[in-house]
Amino acid sequence: MTADSSPLAPYAANEAASRGRVHAEPPPVLRGEYQRDRDRIIHSTAFRRLVYKTQVFVNHEGDLYRTRLTHSIEVAQIARTIARALRLNETLAEAICLAHDLGHTPFGHAGQDALNDCMKPYGGFEHNLQSLRVVDELEERYAAFPGLNLTFETREGILKHCSLNNARQLGELGERFIQRRQPTLEAQIANLADEIAYNNHDLDDGLRAGLIALDGLREVPLFRRQHEAVLERYPGLQGRRLIHEVVRRMINYVVTDLVETSRAALQAAAPASAEDVRKRSAVLVQFSAAVAAEHLELKNYLRDHVYRHYRVLRMTNKANTVIRSMFDSFFARPELLPDEHFQAAKQLEAKSGEIGRARAVADYIAGMTDRYAIVEHERLFDPAKRS
Ligand code: MG
Repeated sequence: MTADSSPLAPYAANEAASRGRVHAEPPPVLRGEYQRDRDRIIHSTAFRRLVYKTQVFVNHEGDLYRTRLTHSIEVAQIARTIARALRLNETLAEAICLAHDLGHTPFGHAGQDALNDCMKPYGGFEHNLQSLRVVDELEERYAAFPGLNLTFETREGILKHCSLNNARQLGELGERFIQRRQPTLEAQIANLADEIAYNNHDLDDGLRAGLIALDGLREVPLFRRQHEAVLERYPGLQGRRLIHEVVRRMINYVVTDLVETSRAALQAAAPASAEDVRKRSAVLVQFSAAVAAEHLELKNYLRDHVYRHYRVLRMTNKANTVIRSMFDSFFARPELLPDEHFQAAKQLEAKSGEIGRARAVADYIAGMTDRYAIVEHERLFDPAKRS
């Protein structure tokens, strides 16, 4: 039995078999280990900053769009439903989802691309790896260790992708990328819950922003099917209630498919433990082939009509300018950094030269919220603003 009082499947991640924390700690008294991870994530500074970080739309464009905080909560909520339906560890899945975007830059995907571009000569910038860096090193909250000292399983789930080069430097955590193995089922769920959440909320936000319209979306089978079903049941329904009714059914449809397909895959493979799951070369949490194809169609539609809409591209362009110019200035003259970050730059530079200095600048920029980045950019370049 778990803290959630439902019996776990034998292949669920089980904290009794956890690979533990880097710094040994006494076990929690009132909570389980993964509950402790989740709570540490929620109390972190990086988690609170997610409220002012963009998903697709810049934070000041409107109060109604998703931010990284609401995105992370939606991902966790979808993952918990799937984990519970499959008798997997709901708390671990939740912890992974709440932490998965902690390393994200300001200005959404645009910011990540811009910072990665700046960091190309110095080892690159990858937001999954940065999320890990936040929970392993950058958070300063506990007397006994740097970072949040999370369990191996939560850290394994946070590291969704990783280049081979980086994997070689990560020890046990990087092994699966080298050996082409899989993480726990809870981590596999977090990956797909992320996709389900952003496909559906970016559609919703895209409609709200007027970048796309219902008529055009009817090209997308996943949308069209639910749209028709809703109008058949509620003829004349319009506006926000129509959109939300369609979107919630779309989520329900793909989640149900995911649970049924994964349940069948688990039955067929019958892994004896979470370790058994890790040894496999292919994932077990998956959509049916038909739904995977439809999901991809939706994603492509959003890419062409939302992420490449000229209004979004203008934002991308501004983000690029802001991040590039800040990076270049701070890298050339680290003494322009606020003192704490200047000290970090000196320390990292003493250890690994220019690569270290660049990393400290990237840490500072990645930690910024959208509005902090805009203000900091003004303080650097607008002579009329206070420095
Ligand atoms: Mg995400």
